[in-house]
Amino acid sequence: MLDGIRDAVRKFLGGSSSYDVAVEEFIKDLQKALISSDVQVKLVFSLTNKIKERLKNETPPSSIGRREWFIKVVYDELSALFGGDKEPDLNPKSLPWVIMLVGVQGTGKTTTAGKLAFFYKKRGYKVALVGADVYRPAALEQLQQIGKQINVPVYGEPGNHGAVGIAMRGVERFLKDKYELIIVDTAGRHGYGEEAKLLDEMRDIFEKIKPNEVVLVIDAAIGQKAFDLAKKFHEASNVGSIIITKMDGTAKGGGALSAVSATGAPIKFIGVGEKIDELEVFNPRRFVARILG
Ligand code: GDP
Repeated sequence: MLDGIRDAVRKFLGGSSSYDVAVEEFIKDLQKALISSDVQVKLVFSLTNKIKERLKNETPPSSIGRREWFIKVVYDELSALFGGDKEPDLNPKSLPWVIMLVGVQGTGKTTTAGKLAFFYKKRGYKVALVGADVYRPAALEQLQQIGKQINVPVYGEPGNHGAVGIAMRGVERFLKDKYELIIVDTAGRHGYGEEAKLLDEMRDIFEKIKPNEVVLVIDAAIGQKAFDLAKKFHEASNVGSIIITKMDGTAKGGGALSAVSATGAPIKFIGVGEKIDELEVFNPRRFVARILG
């Protein structure tokens, strides 16, 4: 992931050009690496402008060389884009807490619903799942199977295509039964293949069930589409946090950065495999360290 940056750092630290020339070269390499990793161009320039500004306004401390200091500035600014030193806030702020998952089909939404249920069950919460993805035929069965595996109840209405009603009745039923954390899986594609209809449905579910948190699930491989997609979901349902799936794959993952900037929402978890426990808490610094090598 973002290998180009790693190479640029190596070249910068080991290079023989003068500091000023090396900085210029590094910034160009960084821009190229970020853009080719699907980070939005506007975001890339705002990042590199911030770095340049700090170079102009700050004096490196005498304890470290200025090349090392420069890399630290880059590291800080990249981490800041992903939330900096703030640990993601994982525990529900109040109970009961209703989470609505949104995202396009195939990103791993249903799998992630199960992973989240498992994560919070292990933390001691009374968790339930609602299957409102009515357009993908096997989605409910898949969720029911996961539910059985982790011993979490799943609400669904096989054969019923009214996603909004299912979501409402599911949430209502689990609230009545005093469940503390209710996770609603929604559709990633509409029956008529129209994006506008899907987004209308998201908005409708959002307004009816009034979730405490909308989680946007996106695939690490989404690429340049990430910004627009995240923005559309955000407009329909006020995205509060992000989960990036398939971080174990070969995808560059730069789209994550765009999704963060489109929604202003923090990344909370990353999916690192197909299994129920393959969900990691997102750590901005570790993520950037991985990028910078
Ligand atoms: P949905 O259409 O968004 O509900 O997607 P699914 O939950 O059915 O997942 C689509 C595919 O992605 C399945 O084969 C999952 O096993 C796989 N998947 C989901 N999350 C991850 C992940 O973090 N890593 C990997 N490697 N595969 C994943």
